[in-house]
Amino acid sequence: MKSIELKCEKCHEPHTVQGSEVEYEQVSGDDRQMGAALYYEALVEFNCDCGNAITIKSSFTEYPIGSESDATTTASGGTITKIVD
Ligand SMILES: [Zn+2]
Repeated sequence: MKSIELKCEKCHEPHTVQGSEVEYEQVSGDDRQMGAALYYEALVEFNCDCGNAITIKSSFTEYPIGSESDATTTASGGTITKIVD
């Protein structure tokens, strides 16, 4: 799983979220030409030492089964600097 490096938007303190802390949940599914497409989403919320709330939202689609695509990671309250595989 990927780990995410980001900086607090307010105090610019760097944070690292380990891949093991990111828990994906299947949020929906769809039937497409090559079978099922499954949508996964993970939400990580924590507070910086300065009190700023940081939320990371990560999602991807599994389609066809076994292959990951459309991976998107966004943050509010912070700026993502690096996503490490
Ligand atoms: Zn901060």
